[in-house]
Amino acid sequence: MENFNGFNLPPALIQALQKLGFTKPTPIQAQAIPLALTGRDVLGSAQTGTGKTAAFGIPLVTRLINNPSSAALVLTPTRELATQVLKQLTELIGHPTHIRTALLIGGDSMGKQLGQLRAQPRLIVGTPGRINDHLMRRSVNLSKTDFLVLDETDRMLDMGFGVQLEKIVKHMPTDRQTLMFSATMPTNIMKMAAQYLRNPERIAVGSTIAAAPKIKQELIHMPETEKYGKLVNLLEERNGSIIVFVKTKHGADRLAQKLVKHNHSADAIHGDLRQRQRDRVIQNFRDRKHRIMVATDVAARGLDIPHIEHVINYDLPQAPEDYIHRIGRTARAGAEGSAVCLITPADGEKWRAIHRLMHPGEAPPPRSANAPRRFGNSDKPRSPGGFKGPRKGFGGGPRPFNRGGRSAAKAS
Ligand code: ADP
Ligand code: MG
Repeated sequence: MENFNGFNLPPALIQALQKLGFTKPTPIQAQAIPLALTGRDVLGSAQTGTGKTAAFGIPLVTRLINNPSSAALVLTPTRELATQVLKQLTELIGHPTHIRTALLIGGDSMGKQLGQLRAQPRLIVGTPGRINDHLMRRSVNLSKTDFLVLDETDRMLDMGFGVQLEKIVKHMPTDRQTLMFSATMPTNIMKMAAQYLRNPERIAVGSTIAAAPKIKQELIHMPETEKYGKLVNLLEERNGSIIVFVKTKHGADRLAQKLVKHNHSADAIHGDLRQRQRDRVIQNFRDRKHRIMVATDVAARGLDIPHIEHVINYDLPQAPEDYIHRIGRTARAGAEGSAVCLITPADGEKWRAIHRLMHPGEAPPPRSANAPRRFGNSDKPRSPGGFKGPRKGFGGGPRPFNRGGRSAAKAS
């Protein structure tokens, strides 16, 4: 599909797409949209940053425009993602007053949400916990909501929302259309799909295991004590917005404070912040008021901030899958990006688990110090020019030594 005209979309939606600058469907959109428009249930997976939101958003908005008695619910794992998804859907709707919406997320004012619900919204986007709160209070009624989207379903299950999802779906008509999206398709997702979807069409674009192709990845091995100094070097050598992932909430706060003390423009985001604070940190980062966002994995999935150029894994993630989601925060929509991993001797086993996930069937890296093939490998940082792609001479063989480069470039 060369452009969106072949889909027979409502003119208002075509206009909205033009305004957004979406001229050509992404591969997952090209496959999912025509199927969903015929009313089929869809189980879709594609790499991060490939346009899954519009893949369900375009059929959703088409249905709401063409069918005034139809209503839709979109469930996402996090509040931030719900906010971002509703924003994109509102842009697709074009006229904000035309189809009323509600954002039902935890940590947000109940009064505001009750007001939105009284206005009979035809589109609700939210997180499972808060939607169940409303179902219990009977402030929301889903008995006529005949279009359901589950976004980032793998993450929702990881976060323990399985039971909540089940409760919500029970309030919806069985005669509905359901689209389920997930970056990965483990067996628990397939099971859930069998339960919630009717004769779904399964769409998988590209390998869901591999990271997006334009992310240049680099490993840096070092002792724990040198991590902070190395991070500062990396931050100074790079331009553009950077997200730094750490293990703990406390660690995120501490690292951001330390960076600020050393005159870096940084802020922290993690699950202990109030919703309003989280929104502010993200908004400031979006507006480039802070160049560096130090985050726990709460920010790892789904967030779409196009100008994130680098992801630095200061600590490795607990779950290997999270690595793919973390680095998927950069190189969005075909842009280029880079990901750097700081690896200490204690990280050996964790790194091997990530490597196994990214390279199924391949031999594990012989030593923790030996980087897998598709990654840059350096015990000393390399020059920015050395960032351009995989380097020769590693894999099973002895570890090459890359000296100099970056430190020389740093002076400039
Ligand atoms: P995913 O959910 O697959 O991780 P998103 O839906 O967040 O990805 O989309 C990633 C980025 O790509 C967003 O900035 C979005 O605006 C942009 N995008 C989506 N579809 C298109 C398109 N057809 N043309 C251009 N940009 C697009
Ligand atoms: Mg998404």
